[in-house]
Amino acid sequence: MLDFGPVQFYIARHFGFCYGVENAIEISYKAMEENPDKKVYLLSQMIHNQEVNRDLVSRGIQFIMDTDGTQFVPWKDLKPEDIVIVPAFGTTIEIEKILTSIGIEIQKYNTTCPFVERVWKRSEKLGQSGHTIIIHGKHNHEETRATFSHSNENAPTLIIRDIVEAKELCKMISGERSTNDFYTLFEGRYSEGFEPSTDLKKVGVVNQTTMLATETQEIADCIKQTIVAVYGEDHYKDHFADTRDTLCYATNDNQDATYELLKLEADLAIIVGGYNSSNTSHIVELCERKFPSYFINSDKEIISSSEIHHYKYEAKEMVNTKDFIPKKKPVKIVLTSGASCPDTLVDKVLLKMLSYFDATKTLEEALMPFES
Ligand code: SF4
Repeated sequence: MLDFGPVQFYIARHFGFCYGVENAIEISYKAMEENPDKKVYLLSQMIHNQEVNRDLVSRGIQFIMDTDGTQFVPWKDLKPEDIVIVPAFGTTIEIEKILTSIGIEIQKYNTTCPFVERVWKRSEKLGQSGHTIIIHGKHNHEETRATFSHSNENAPTLIIRDIVEAKELCKMISGERSTNDFYTLFEGRYSEGFEPSTDLKKVGVVNQTTMLATETQEIADCIKQTIVAVYGEDHYKDHFADTRDTLCYATNDNQDATYELLKLEADLAIIVGGYNSSNTSHIVELCERKFPSYFINSDKEIISSSEIHHYKYEAKEMVNTKDFIPKKKPVKIVLTSGASCPDTLVDKVLLKMLSYFDATKTLEEALMPFES
């Protein structure tokens, strides 16, 4: 807790940039430095943070496509000598093949996060042992599209979004619901040729790395219990692979730190991050369980001491809230950020909020208790 007198900030123990994002940004700037005379492209957003992406564009990088796959630069415009950076989410095998066929060297500036690759390796292993892969993820997210593509090479694959869908799938596994509904329910999210009557007999679950850990566990438990009920305690291991550890460390650390914040009494929470960032959205979801929560992508969304412009993740819209700072002393504010948010943005938010209070301690005074 940073105590400034009339306002106190509770900062999460873990927040902000993760290894994968730092690594991706470092490689992107290196690619530009090393290739001043070449065209440098990013396959899609480097990370889900507009500030970082805008900075990269201002330095001359061009995006080939947007987050949902809409193409800005046609493949035919790319030349073998161009530089293409693969983002931290990784990419699909189909896109890898297109780039390779053009003659572009994709491994040189491939920033695919090792924690994403770990999921691909896990699904490869599961595929080799005859499992169907169930991916718990958001099917239109770049990382899940890439994971689906890699998994699909090795095994029948299906993407489910949440526990509600997992329960419906379980009804099909147990025979409680007809598999005829499978193709409507999971439209656009299963491998070509997926046959629910045979492909749901031996399954393994992997995740998009940034999902909500508790939901991931709930889904694995739900499928496991169904398999145990169908095949019996002695045989369920022949039909189910428990692989719930495919969330990445940053997701786990940031969510654990948020659970600690939920034990506190505070007046509001501010969560900083990109609006299409999966891991940030889950931190918001947790904070909303206890505090009035404001999801903003920069300090600029704090209009004044009486107005904040913020994103409602579920409704996918920006809204204005007036009088978001309660009139009391001290005001207690939870402050955290997602894995794709630079720490400087969190600093700016803290300083802007601080400027709305009179007679506050200086930053040095507030930090004094932490000096050794
Ligand atoms: S959130 Fe996790 S998986 Fe994604 S880039 Fe960061 S460390 Fe890698």
